[in-house]
Amino acid sequence: MAYIGHRCACGHSDLQHRGAQTGGGCTARAGHPCQQPCGPVGEPQVIPTFNLHGQPIERVIAPGGGFPTLGGGHHLRTCDCESCQALYAEVVA
Ligand SMILES: [Zn+2]
Ligand SMILES: [Zn+2]
Ligand SMILES: [Zn+2]
Repeated sequence: MAYIGHRCACGHSDLQHRGAQTGGGCTARAGHPCQQPCGPVGEPQVIPTFNLHGQPIERVIAPGGGFPTLGGGHHLRTCDCESCQALYAEVVA
C-alpha cells in the first residue's frame, strides 16, 4: 500500500502528526513526540507503507481516503490538499 502524504522535516509522515497537517506535533513514537524538530512540510510524495502483516499492498490510497485499519481502532485519513490531489492524478494516470 502506498499513500500520498507530506514528509515533515523531522522525517516522519503527516500521518504521524496530530491534526490534518504537521503543525500539531509529531507522534511517531507511540503517540509521543519524536524529539526531532518539525519543519515546514514539503511537496507531497508517494509514501509506501505496509499492512499489519508486513505485506506491501499495491494500491495507492486516494487523497482524503481512509486507511483500512484493522479492528476499527485508530482512524487515519490521508491529506487531501490540492498538491496531493495533483500527485495522485499523476500516479494513477
Ligand atoms: Zn517526527
Ligand atoms: Zn514532524
Ligand atoms: Zn497534501
